[in-house]
Amino acid sequence: SSTPSKLLVLFSVSSGSLVAYSESQAETDRPNVELSRTESKKKRVVVLGTGWAGTSFLRDLDISKYDVQVVSPRNYFAFTPLLPSVTCGTVEARSIVEPIRNMIKKRSGEINFWEAECLKIDAANKRIFCKSNLDENLVGSNEFSLEYDYLVIAIGAEVNTFNTPGVLEHCHFLKEVEDAQRIRRAVIDCFEKAVLPGLSEEERQTNLHFVIVGGGPTGVEFAAELHDFVQEDLVKLYPSVRDLVKISVIQSGDHILNTFDERISSFAEQKFRRDGIEVLTGSRVINVSDKFINMKMKSSGEVFSVPHGMVLWSTGVGARPVVKDFMEKIGQGNRRVLATDEWLRVKGCEEVYALGDCATIDQRKIMVDMLNIFKAADKDNSGTLTMEEFEDVIDDILVRYPQVDLYLKRNHLPDIRSLLKDTMGREREEVNYEEFKSALSLVDSQTKSLPATAQVAAQQGAYLSRCFNLRDKCESNPEGPRRFTGVGRHQFRPFRYKHLGQFAPLGGEQAAAELPGDWVSMGHSTQWLWYSVYASKQVSWRTRVLVVFDWTRRFIFGRDSSRI
Ligand code: FAD
Repeated sequence: SSTPSKLLVLFSVSSGSLVAYSESQAETDRPNVELSRTESKKKRVVVLGTGWAGTSFLRDLDISKYDVQVVSPRNYFAFTPLLPSVTCGTVEARSIVEPIRNMIKKRSGEINFWEAECLKIDAANKRIFCKSNLDENLVGSNEFSLEYDYLVIAIGAEVNTFNTPGVLEHCHFLKEVEDAQRIRRAVIDCFEKAVLPGLSEEERQTNLHFVIVGGGPTGVEFAAELHDFVQEDLVKLYPSVRDLVKISVIQSGDHILNTFDERISSFAEQKFRRDGIEVLTGSRVINVSDKFINMKMKSSGEVFSVPHGMVLWSTGVGARPVVKDFMEKIGQGNRRVLATDEWLRVKGCEEVYALGDCATIDQRKIMVDMLNIFKAADKDNSGTLTMEEFEDVIDDILVRYPQVDLYLKRNHLPDIRSLLKDTMGREREEVNYEEFKSALSLVDSQTKSLPATAQVAAQQGAYLSRCFNLRDKCESNPEGPRRFTGVGRHQFRPFRYKHLGQFAPLGGEQAAAELPGDWVSMGHSTQWLWYSVYASKQVSWRTRVLVVFDWTRRFIFGRDSSRI
């Protein structure tokens, strides 16, 4: 470079903070651009991620109180529940994304957005290190660091491959919009390849074997979408191979959709059987190659190999590298995702919050709380409660921790009341503390963290912004955020998840839904409920109109099979 090596250039960014560039720093491993906190009295909140949790936090945050800086490698929010529809062209990719700068504009533009990936979190010095993924040929530095007062980590998760050989190289994932677009092209490729001249019947069949690993909501929804795409559109365009298409779902558990009510799992299995979608339960994938997928039957140990044209891997989520690195540093290296307390504060560091798929609320605290509820009910400190008092304890637990019953239900276990009573024996007049404690450890081992869903992420984002909005009213309290009620102060309520139900679209204009209050609804009418809920949940009128337009277009003209 012709620039003198010691030259220091200072220029101002929109927040008024100073950005310093020094070439002499370029050789060091530190980024050469630093966004330091300003002299302003406003505390800086840095938000990582523009997904469900991040945008929900930003939507409700009182930005007049903070200097808000957002970092994300994608400059849009994606409505992930409609990603499976993008894989087959039922809706277009651009219909389900909202530019983050549109969202910021609505907040009077007082939020700074940086399109970059956070690579490192230095909680000791309250600084994050970022790198932009923009074109390297553009002039200027791609790296910078950012100081924060509060850090909100909402960077989601990545697909968990369980280190299965060949998965990264030969499988498709469905996490991002780009993944959905890639899958759409891959499906069409399989059909175009299958009709080329010179292929044997077996080769055509292999190209048209679509394998989905994972029978959770995403895998099932993709299988259903693909089946509709094939039956409603592709068989008309590729009539010569219409009977060679096969869709298989491989599930390691005993049922698909096993986080849903049993009635929904069996409805989905029956529907798939009728549609000719093969469901292989109790099978674990050992490895994947470009042509074959090798599996092992859990019951017999038998290993077999299946040729495939395309594989979608959808078996749960794991931590992103930057989170893994951060977890190592704060002593959480042995965990799957970041552990927080019930106020979403990351354990082991100050002023760092984590929400959405990248975090989980540490259950141990909940178990301790439950024991405290028992102790509080034991007014005479005898260590024993009558059955009547114990029923009140369970009621109290359920009001405070409704998710515990939800986890148990997801694992097809009895509710907490029955589980505790069955464990301790039903024919009894009193319950003592030690018995309760050991029964609880059973519940603990069978309950898992909150599900990794948009619903949880959005509720956590909204909760945390409320805490931040009221923070200045309770600054003096070192115990964490407090709620200001107008009539006095009392401890801020911890985050409570409210389960509003969940949907599973099953294709053929049918869906299944688990609704609040243990209601289950399945069939064509549920599909219409799905349409209305998903249209209403869109983040802007623009995407709402685009999505409804796409659905209408599909009804009238079918899906577009061009490979672009
Ligand atoms: P995300 O929404 O994934 O957002 C993460 C954000 O972090 C993104 O903006 C990303 O660009 C950014 N980021 C990533 N790395 C970095 C980094 N290093 N630095 C800074 N930013 C970073 N849930 C439901 O409730 N209902 C459904 O019907 C449903 N369907 C789904 C269908 C599919 C195909 C998928 C994949 C998921 C579905 N989910 C559904 C789950 C739901 O999408 C997730 O639980 C939700 O997106 C989690 O929100 P999040 O904000 O934690 O993460």
